[in-house]
Amino acid sequence: MEKVKCLIIGSGPAGYTAAIYAARADLKPVLYEGMQPGGQLTITTEVDNFPGYPEGVMGPALMQDLRKQALRFNTDVRPGLISEVDFSKRPFHIKTDDGKDIEALTVIVATGATANWLGLDSEKKYNGQGVSACATCDGFFYRNQDVAVVGGGDTACEEACYLAGLCSKVYMVVRRDQLRASKAMQERVFSNPKIEILWNHVTKEIVGDEDGVNGAVLTNVKTGEEKKIDVMGFFVAIGHTPNTKLFNGQLELHETGHIKTKPGTTQTSVEGVFAAGDVQDLHYRQAITSAGTGCMAAIEAERFLTDHNEK
Ligand code: NDP
Repeated sequence: MEKVKCLIIGSGPAGYTAAIYAARADLKPVLYEGMQPGGQLTITTEVDNFPGYPEGVMGPALMQDLRKQALRFNTDVRPGLISEVDFSKRPFHIKTDDGKDIEALTVIVATGATANWLGLDSEKKYNGQGVSACATCDGFFYRNQDVAVVGGGDTACEEACYLAGLCSKVYMVVRRDQLRASKAMQERVFSNPKIEILWNHVTKEIVGDEDGVNGAVLTNVKTGEEKKIDVMGFFVAIGHTPNTKLFNGQLELHETGHIKTKPGTTQTSVEGVFAAGDVQDLHYRQAITSAGTGCMAAIEAERFLTDHNEK
């Protein structure tokens, strides 16, 4: 049985930042990269809002940089998945998909979240070429252009309001005749003259050419009528699914599936298990906030080990 002081699960900004801090604190972290090494940023294009890159950086390049920095301090970065965890007692017992058994004194969960998509072929085809799941990341590319946001929850409303600050017009494509979002958010949307809500509409197809998206064909679910809107950006905001299947029954989760943490910390319901990044974040979901909570998790893990004379 392999024994580790600090096991990090996940390789997005939270996981790698936790690794950098944990390695520098001599916790000899072992990091499992998971299903999508580098996380969600590896499927984005330019990242213009990560501090320290005045000219912006490509998402995959940013993740390579974070990985290199974690390796520089001798993080043991491993490909592969964690297939089972037992957090019922310490040291925690973890199994990997290649049959390895690990005993970990602390665990940092940084498994991230996956954006929900509509499931259209055209959505896949134009991903990164007009189709996005993050207005804060990509809205800037559509300044003074028309865009669409799909969804009627708080995220869709927030994205629509954000985009209305940059774009000439924002269509909100809502599949019912009401929004799911909180009243305050609804008010913000209703009072914004740049936002037009298309009630009872679903997306049939996203259309475009070699330059990317230039429109979307919508269907009115009440009348069956089709309508084409001319938009250069198409933002899907129909929720995220946190990657927490592995922790069902092991950690306390919110109704949304996100891991519950003690406010102001990354401490989960199990002492010695910390959660960082989108897996525990219902509100911000930014690379920089993920990195920030990764740093917090490593510092908290170090303090935990010191308090238990295990460092
Ligand atoms: P939600 O699950 O709240 O909303 C998803 C929205 O997408 C709903 O309007 C839903 O429609 C719609 N939708 C789902 N699937 C489809 C589909 N296939 N086609 C078209 N529309 C679809 O997700 P959010 O990401 O908005 O929010 C997640 C949680 O995070 C919520 O609890 C929210 O309150 C919270 N949050 C809070 C914020 C804040 O407080 N500032 C900001 C952002 C999120 P329908 O209503 O018909 O099901």
